[in-house]
Amino acid sequence: MFDYLIVGAGFAGSVLAERLANVDGKSVLICDKRNHIGGNAYDYYNEDGILIHKYGPHIFHTNSADVFEYLSRFTDWREYQHKVLADVDGMKVPIPINLNTINKLYGLNLNAHEVKDFFESVREKREPVRTSEDVVVNAVGRELYEKFFRGYTQKQWGLDPSELDASVTARVPTRTNRDDRYFSDHYQAMPKHGYTKMFEKMLDHPKIKIMLNCDYRDIAKEIDYREMIYTGPVDAFFDYRYGKLPYRSLEFKHETIDAEVYQEAPVVNYPNGQAYTRITEFKYLTGQDHKKTGIVYEFPRAEGDPYYPIPRPENAELYQKYRALADARKDVHFVGRLATYKYYNMDQIVAQALTVYGKIVGLKRKEAAAIRMASATPATATTVTTATVPYTNGKTNGTSRPTANAVSN
Ligand code: FAD
Ligand code: UDP
Repeated sequence: MFDYLIVGAGFAGSVLAERLANVDGKSVLICDKRNHIGGNAYDYYNEDGILIHKYGPHIFHTNSADVFEYLSRFTDWREYQHKVLADVDGMKVPIPINLNTINKLYGLNLNAHEVKDFFESVREKREPVRTSEDVVVNAVGRELYEKFFRGYTQKQWGLDPSELDASVTARVPTRTNRDDRYFSDHYQAMPKHGYTKMFEKMLDHPKIKIMLNCDYRDIAKEIDYREMIYTGPVDAFFDYRYGKLPYRSLEFKHETIDAEVYQEAPVVNYPNGQAYTRITEFKYLTGQDHKKTGIVYEFPRAEGDPYYPIPRPENAELYQKYRALADARKDVHFVGRLATYKYYNMDQIVAQALTVYGKIVGLKRKEAAAIRMASATPATATTVTTATVPYTNGKTNGTSRPTANAVSN
């Protein structure tokens, strides 16, 4: 008998597994239908020995000291400030749009006051700011909106920015200074030895069993457990009873280039023209020394693995119907980006998972994060062990299935 069956070994599932096993001594079976832990943050060394992110660039940033300190128990960090250039009018210019962007794009030499006046002169006031178009034209006007946002957003989401909630483009600020970092959070860093190593440490506990290549539907009926924590898509859990919740997918095209450096920035965005939205060069993110370099192109897709909930009113309405079903299931906790249909970053998912853990054990999030494991020993580096879950499948006469494989790419 397991205390918890956790579906999904991404941030949401792994944080909960770690807390429940380490602090409360609960027995946990965590399964993932993929052949690795880490969810979308999974990274690995490719055949050329370059550390790459299988599901696109993952940069850790947060303003939450609790979240940062919590994760710091499982990894050391490499300080890293993310930078992005946008390919616009034949030039590579900084995004978020800032003083340097405007000066380079228009061949000007404005100062911070002058660029503020410039934005004031070109902006189209929108009141209220409701859509992703409103956000950008309200800040920088139509011309910059067309150059940097409209095409990228149409490609990424298959929708016009006017059809998306303000929260989508509001992720990218506008600045009047020369700060050309992509994020301005207090903590910005990459796990020193990669995300997968961090997940291995989180899950390294005798009370945590891991099953990979394992869809929970194949085992849920045959395994005894008290409660479930579900981090997959919420509509799938309820067999699409109210129809499919739209998610946006991506196709990743990875390449190794036989040169030390491929491009002049960690990420280059392509708002117009190309079928892909951006190219990432991983060595900037990881700091790895290597005579070759690894890059990934992202091609947005309507079909495929669900990567992005699509923030717009009709989807929120449909999600509320699934949420009502989820709330009624007292035996299942729904956590994570897919199960709560939220366009959340990694740190927000960690915070959400800590909040859920806190609710389970009757603590506030801060306390839930801070509480140390009974043994209080820092985790040591290990690889994920192959978990053979002892269970008897009556139908197949005791054959153990599905197999749990070691982490691989
Ligand atoms: P996931 O990581 O999706 O984990 C859910 C797991 O559940 C998956 O592994 C899945 O296989 C498993 N699962 C689903 N259904 C089943 C089933 N039936 N049975 C068994 N297992 C199942 N965030 C940042 O903070 N910074 C970034 O730079 C960043 N970049 C991103 C780039 C891209 C391209 C994408 C797509 C996301 C990015 N994110 C970034 C967001 C980040 O990936 C998520 O916030 C985070 O990974 C969500 O964790 P999760 O555990 O909720 O979900
Ligand atoms: N965006 C854009 N142009 C850019 C960068 C971002 O139009 O150069 C818009 C686009 O709609 C994108 C959203 O802003 O989906 C959020 O960007 P972010 O880089 O945060 O996306 P993510 O990393 O989550 O894919």
